[in-house]
Amino acid sequence: MKDHLPQPLRQLAEACPAPLYLVGGSVRDFLLGYPIGKKTDWDLSSPMCEEDFIAAAKRSGFSVRAVYRHTGTVKLEDGEGCGYEFSRFRSDKYVRGEHTPSEIFFTQDISLDARRRDFCANAVYYDIAGEDFADPLGGIEDIQNRRLRTVREAEKVFGEDGLRLIRLARISAETGLSPDGECLSGAKRNCSLIEDIAPERIFAELRLLLLADEKHGDREAPYRGLKILHETGVLARVIPELALGDGMEQKSPYHVHDVLEHSLQCVRHAPPQIRFAALLHDVGKPFCMLRDGNFYLHAVEGARIAEEILTRLKAPKKLIEETVFLVENHMRDFDCMMRDIKVRREILRIGDMLPALFALKQADFSACKGDLSPAPSVVKWQNILDKMKEEGVPFCTKELAVNGRDLQRAGVPEKMTAAALKELLLWCAEDGTRNYPDALLRFAARFAETR
Ligand code: ATP
Ligand code: MG
Repeated sequence: MKDHLPQPLRQLAEACPAPLYLVGGSVRDFLLGYPIGKKTDWDLSSPMCEEDFIAAAKRSGFSVRAVYRHTGTVKLEDGEGCGYEFSRFRSDKYVRGEHTPSEIFFTQDISLDARRRDFCANAVYYDIAGEDFADPLGGIEDIQNRRLRTVREAEKVFGEDGLRLIRLARISAETGLSPDGECLSGAKRNCSLIEDIAPERIFAELRLLLLADEKHGDREAPYRGLKILHETGVLARVIPELALGDGMEQKSPYHVHDVLEHSLQCVRHAPPQIRFAALLHDVGKPFCMLRDGNFYLHAVEGARIAEEILTRLKAPKKLIEETVFLVENHMRDFDCMMRDIKVRREILRIGDMLPALFALKQADFSACKGDLSPAPSVVKWQNILDKMKEEGVPFCTKELAVNGRDLQRAGVPEKMTAAALKELLLWCAEDGTRNYPDALLRFAARFAETR
């Protein structure tokens, strides 16, 4: 393992007055055979106090970014911008479910430190200077057997900190380690504790879970994590609107899965940028079925519900806006019955979001029956888009053959200029040959008269 570690870290370990261990993801991933290096999150631990560690770090040329004396945690950065997090050996006491320990005891005993962690596979230590592993809880065997076991009784481990419920699904997704029976049943029994966790933390873990394939390149990773989230009952607590689709028939020959499984399959087929939209694209279906007895308005209701869910989880504003837009538009022309002229106007209205919408429509199509062939509506829209480009259709006001001042000179009132330019773009979208000053000015004058 030594050869894979950054040189400054090896120097730091030599400068410390007590053994400095790597622990957590870096050791686990190395033992799993995944490459570790530049992008690795280096978690460090040791029986030495944080003052001794800080002094050694400064002597070795590290910058101290933060110190939390209460938990014995120190954040460092080396000269190359690589981050390290040190935590002193400790044992934690919790108030049920609360995530932050109520009492902390520092210790010299590595097995006590291991037992305050979540899974045995995350409690394997590597003594950097001594070049040896320390494995107080049998984590190496778990890694070899591709298994996740809790460091103590699962009931207690999950009962202490609800965040561990979602970490279970995320880490299992990323690593391919499967929770054993006791771990799963302990998580199930405690699933309500996820409700005590701050929404920002839940969102951060859910985001990592949906992007779990980016960690080690396993395409099935996000789907695997979502299945565990569902199986443990955590999904129904975090996004109950979605879990309502469990067992709900689609009543359509196009689908082989129920509403929930179809949503999870859609994530499986979706590229990373649209995974939240893929997960939530049909979230309006259970609502519409329970209210109306059909799925008719599910895209509109789904957009409203997706906004509620992501706002509740405190997702970034841009992600909410894009996801809501995609959910609302995912059914556009799903049956390929829309006239070409309308498709052209839709393409213009959708603008920059078109690649994401195509990706969602493709994932939605493939998720129905596992059919990986191109989705007919995407093929149709792509052909129309190519034709528009060939014709030289303008896609933004800058590409129009007239500007706002030209319109005003031709008699369009100033307050109407922006609306007139927008209307001109839609008019040109129907036929690329219309982008000439005379034709545009005549159209704009008529537009202004009829307003
Ligand atoms: P990653 O590869 O994503 O960094 P990780 O397992 O290293 O995964 P971190 O969040 O970096 O996860 O945490 C480092 C270690 O700290 C974990 O491996 C685990 O031993 C311990 N840990 C982190 N969060 C918790 C928690 N909520 N409860 C118990 N132990 C935790
Ligand atoms: Mg880590």
